[in-house]
Amino acid sequence: MKEFQRNHPSPPSTKPNNSIHDGGLVDGRGRRITYLRLAITDRCNLRCRYCRPERGVPFIPHEEILRFEELERVVAVFCSLGLTKVRVTGGEPFSRRGCLHFLKRLRQIDGVQYLYITTNGVKTSRDLDELGAIGLNGINVSLDTLDHKRFWKITRRNYLTAVLQTIHGALIREIPLKINSVVLEDTCDDEIIQLAGLAREFPLTLRFIERMPFSGAVRSKKLANTNLSRRLKRIFPAIEECAAALPTTARIFALPGYKGNLGLIQGYSRKFCETCNKVRITPSGMLKTCLYDNGALDLKKLLRSGAGDYEIREAIIACVQNRFDNGHEAELFCSRTKEPSMAMIGG
Ligand code: SAM
Repeated sequence: MKEFQRNHPSPPSTKPNNSIHDGGLVDGRGRRITYLRLAITDRCNLRCRYCRPERGVPFIPHEEILRFEELERVVAVFCSLGLTKVRVTGGEPFSRRGCLHFLKRLRQIDGVQYLYITTNGVKTSRDLDELGAIGLNGINVSLDTLDHKRFWKITRRNYLTAVLQTIHGALIREIPLKINSVVLEDTCDDEIIQLAGLAREFPLTLRFIERMPFSGAVRSKKLANTNLSRRLKRIFPAIEECAAALPTTARIFALPGYKGNLGLIQGYSRKFCETCNKVRITPSGMLKTCLYDNGALDLKKLLRSGAGDYEIREAIIACVQNRFDNGHEAELFCSRTKEPSMAMIGG
């Protein structure tokens, strides 16, 4: 497994050891970790050009991917440290056989109060009844365009109809729905207006996402969407920012006459690090305490070397203690020539 170094170099730290307060997991800056994103596979049935190069990235061998029982065990350990929210992602989570059953199992873990999934929606519509029955707290569907030709251009696949079916199916079943749209260099204002139209028509949140340097390709010189906030204000002069329910990584906006909301995720300009409450586990079992780090703890190695829950718990606490202050610092310490693919991270 080469895509991540085992440990990031320790950031200069005179931080007090305050990772645990009243049973919760708190990092060296006092940020409480309550949210875990689990990337259960690196496989995906789309080939989004900002996420994977045309020729793809080498797949992780099956035996290197955490088994469901291993994931359940880690989630239970995190819950013993105050975790309340889990999001299952990937790759495309529904590309992994047994995803639905795994979601049911997660629901049964003590402490998992909020369970979400992020999906490209291609194969999701057939499972919506069961997802509703599990009591999923919400579903995020990724959709960058409403135009069939452009969908093909972005994803290199022709599945827009299936994605729209998932979106409508979720709305009919009243499963809380967010749509994530990455704004690319060539996303025009009209496209933003069309996507926002979904939030005008339906009670959903349409979140525009800054493109981040996770394309699986050689690093792009400059990403062009750093002024997305200003751009949205220009396109929608009447938008009003809603008071944030902290902690959050998305800014939420209301517009007169809209049934839903617009959102903005500034993952490239990294405006939310101060309140970030989330950590990630990659398909191969690396714990990432920042999207921009190279992986901070090899959980798979711990799990497969026979470590007990206490040992895993202590390793997580120590790792979180050394969390980078922000994504800029993480990127600086974890330099790399090639961008990792978001499918290997769990966006
Ligand atoms: N397959 C699922 C999906 O499409 O939602 C889950 C995994 S996908 C990696 C999660 C999210 O990451 C998607 O919303 C996708 O658009 C986003 N993403 C992937 N690469 C990105 C990048 N370079 N910059 C910003 N967002 C990215």
